[in-house]
Amino acid sequence: MDLGLKGKKAIVCAASKGLGKGCAGALAAAGVDLVICARGAEALEATAAELRAAHGVKVATVACDITTEEGRALVLAAAGPEVDILVTNAGGPPPGMWSDWGREDFIRALDANMLTPIALMQAVLPGMMARGWGRVVNITSVSVKAPVAVLGLSNSARAGLTGFVAGTARQVAGQGVTINNLQPGMHATDRAVALDRGAARAQNISEEDARAQRWASIPVGRYGTAEEFGAACAFLCSVHAGFIVGQNILLDGGATNTTM
Ligand code: NAP
Repeated sequence: MDLGLKGKKAIVCAASKGLGKGCAGALAAAGVDLVICARGAEALEATAAELRAAHGVKVATVACDITTEEGRALVLAAAGPEVDILVTNAGGPPPGMWSDWGREDFIRALDANMLTPIALMQAVLPGMMARGWGRVVNITSVSVKAPVAVLGLSNSARAGLTGFVAGTARQVAGQGVTINNLQPGMHATDRAVALDRGAARAQNISEEDARAQRWASIPVGRYGTAEEFGAACAFLCSVHAGFIVGQNILLDGGATNTTM
């Protein structure tokens, strides 16, 4: 399917690895020029080189922390005024106990996973609306639909972002701009490996056994891939997805046992 995106320009945040890289790769395959960021320059440059070589698109890099005002300013400056697509993403907050988190922990999580995507949307939406076309995809989490108890900071911050998107998506849709959220379940990224390792340590079992246990909780019987995730993102960004507005789309291999 031709996604109709050739020559468009996208910002993909936190994209040197994992789900962000998957989204950047799928957009590059559709002919989209990219601005990608991550904190570590080495992996970021390697990803940019890989995408340029594979797809022949322009890929600008900004080594920065997207959760800071300076980082966001650098990314927006590198992209210039005409951004067609924005994919927001950043690392998730650490796990813990509800009783241990103080105000500063919440402010950090809100800054990273709620206020950063909101600030980026506020920066690019006016231009998209003026030009009559735009796509925003926020990478959130399955934890918005089905809370993960130890991820209370993530549950809270991402629920706040989801509320903002629910209203705002309806305010900009009339100008050809769609905003949707992708909710990843368990995917085979560095994070999954770290979680397998943690589960193995906690239960005194091998990492392979820990992974097998986690796979068994997913009807598809495996983790999702960054490529599958990226393909879903690219479709939401495509010219065919103009009627999909304010949705929260679960990509979890069936793991969340809900009817809707
Ligand atoms: P990942 O494999 O750890 O990749 C994270 C990417 O984001 C890397 O490129 C990293 O590069 C970059 N990054 C992290 N923090 C950043 C920051 N502050 N500024 C700029 N770049 C940053 O993570 P992932 O598994 O793709 O997850 C992406 C998001 O989805 C996270 O918010 C995660 O909580 C959420 N999620 C993931 C899963 C899953 O199964 N993978 C499930 C549910 C939710 P640097 O470290 O060099 O900055």
